[in-house]
Amino acid sequence: MTGSCAAPIPFGTLVGYWFAELAADAEQRVEEHFLGCAHCSARLEALAALHQGIRASFENGAIHAVISAPFLATMKERGMRLREYPVAPGGSVHCTISASDDAVIGRLKAPLAGLARVDMVVTDEADTLLFQLEDVPFDPAAGEVLFCPAAAALKQMPAHTEKVRLLAVEDAGERAIGDYTFFHTPG
Ligand SMILES: [Zn+2]
Repeated sequence: MTGSCAAPIPFGTLVGYWFAELAADAEQRVEEHFLGCAHCSARLEALAALHQGIRASFENGAIHAVISAPFLATMKERGMRLREYPVAPGGSVHCTISASDDAVIGRLKAPLAGLARVDMVVTDEADTLLFQLEDVPFDPAAGEVLFCPAAAALKQMPAHTEKVRLLAVEDAGERAIGDYTFFHTPG
């Protein structure tokens, strides 16, 4: 439908372009390529559609996510109704979500300085794995990871307990840097 391309823009470069992360000269080269290449232009459109889809899923509360502080600030600026629960390592919190809430944010305090990668593991009360998020975004200086569970699913849940563990992933292996327990009751 869109022909082919003898020298397609590498996917990583495409992503970098979409997030406006390329250096000015690289960005200009990519733009010149798009002008003459329907194939790569279509690939960029597909990437944009994927991004929109992920964002829509997130805003509909369909996916679990760890978000950045700027993203949280954007959610607030846009008037989303949020509940925030700060929890210290080893701590627990009683939490809820009401029908009119858009999202809940677990502010997981943790010693993050010097870490390159953090994973998050979520289990139920019996330590059965519910889901895992790898290489989550975090600001080492902020000392917290912002966990935003899928709001739509959470609104359907009865009273239950969820256990969250943060893992530092290093050359030597993984080590737990914080455990957090959420005692959830329906709103
Ligand atoms: Zn091309």
